[in-house]
Amino acid sequence: MHAVRLFHHGKPLVDATLPDPVPGPGEIVIDIRAAGICHSDAHYRAEFGRATLPITLGHEIAGYVTDVGEGVANAYAGDRVAVHYFVSCGRCGHCQRYGEQFCVTGEMIGKERDGGWAEKIVVPAANVIPIPEEISFSQAAVMMCSTATAYHALRLADLSGDDSLAIIGFGGLGASAVQLAGVFGAREIYAIDLVREKLELAETFGAEPIPSSRGGFRDALLAATNGRGVDVALDFSGNAAASIDALRSLAPGGRLMLVAINIRSLTFDGYADILGRERRIIGCSDHTRGELFELMDIARRGEIDLSRVITRKVPRTAAAINEVLDELDHGTTHLRSVIASER
Ligand SMILES: [Zn+2]
Ligand SMILES: [Zn+2]
Repeated sequence: MHAVRLFHHGKPLVDATLPDPVPGPGEIVIDIRAAGICHSDAHYRAEFGRATLPITLGHEIAGYVTDVGEGVANAYAGDRVAVHYFVSCGRCGHCQRYGEQFCVTGEMIGKERDGGWAEKIVVPAANVIPIPEEISFSQAAVMMCSTATAYHALRLADLSGDDSLAIIGFGGLGASAVQLAGVFGAREIYAIDLVREKLELAETFGAEPIPSSRGGFRDALLAATNGRGVDVALDFSGNAAASIDALRSLAPGGRLMLVAINIRSLTFDGYADILGRERRIIGCSDHTRGELFELMDIARRGEIDLSRVITRKVPRTAAAINEVLDELDHGTTHLRSVIASER
């Protein structure tokens, strides 16, 4: 089968031919119809968050089940399914006490195991999420990462109907977050970005645009909220200065959700920025399998529309994918690109 592979960090992906996958006990093979291209993939190609080499990247996967291994009872040939990208044991102390994302032997499909930029993939049947007929393969694929991450962050933030929300850095995650915040019933949603086109886009999704400048965005956000600040800030920017600005824009009891990977130190005043206003800084890591079922249901009911988050479809070739990753490295106005052959 054809697969697009990474052989060396920092080098372009390469077209390759691999043997067709065969399901072992408890596994299934999927004929891939859609696979998303995520900003993390650009990091994996570059080296940050070191992927196991050589590898087929791609962790937003959807398609038809073609082969079913021994003992599989939750999937049949012909089923339309998406793939939960994190493979966990479900038995270790971390799985049981802290959650599957922290499994001691956990592995990510598309980073530590071969992923979805290929014709087919073999995965544990436990990682299969059925796709309702109302949802396309492309939308289901995108839901497996960016939408799920936004959903997990809003759940951890305990977003309620009375809350106001600021989205720092508007892209694929932001476009999902705005729609999901509406499902949670958030009162006011603000989008903050440096790029004017992104703010215009955020506005079409129903967020109030707040331009960020060299001096930050705190004053503009406080002015927009009559000096109150926001209850929840989702930081998708991965920029330390923006994170601190977001922290200082929170109302009393406000929550700063760190979602984007940020490898810089954050410097804040323990009293003025945190204690004195009972603010909280909360880290968000991935999402859970259970949340993916909930998301599928939200999308099936038409409460979120991910077709607008997918702004481009590309063929499964190394050249096309490398081009998208290059763009992600340098900044792009596209929300989400998907490698798709829907049928
Ligand atoms: Zn991703
Ligand atoms: Zn485990």
